[in-house]
Amino acid sequence: METKCVFCQIASGEIKTELVASSEHCIAFNDIQPRQPVHILVVPREHFVDVSELALKSPEVMADLMALGAKVAAQQTHGSHRFTFNTGIEAGQSVFHAHGHITSVRAK
Ligand code: AMP
Ligand code: ZN
Repeated sequence: METKCVFCQIASGEIKTELVASSEHCIAFNDIQPRQPVHILVVPREHFVDVSELALKSPEVMADLMALGAKVAAQQTHGSHRFTFNTGIEAGQSVFHAHGHITSVRAK
């Protein structure tokens, strides 16, 4: 039997994860291996393999993800932050369920 991807399991509650924030279509939670003082993942509840598939197939969910990222960045950082999407294995993508990284050198 095929196992579901880790972010689908987090979105469904199968893997218990404390959420930082959530919206109609997306959830946000701390990265398990933070590489900056703030490192939060913003993830659509529905499975898309990467951000390109998400943007092309579901602009409404993409817009919701960008808005949740902006909200999380405003709540958790002093303003300066990065919102990044690794797309494809050679770009460093390791989880093949679309997600954005909010990273910042300074937490609020
Ligand atoms: P990427 O390398 O862009 O695909 O990002 C995947 C991110 O997911 C990495 O930064 C991992 O540390 C993070 N990650 C993997 N599994 C989990 C998990 N169960 N909970 C939180 N973050 C995770
Ligand atoms: Zn998934």
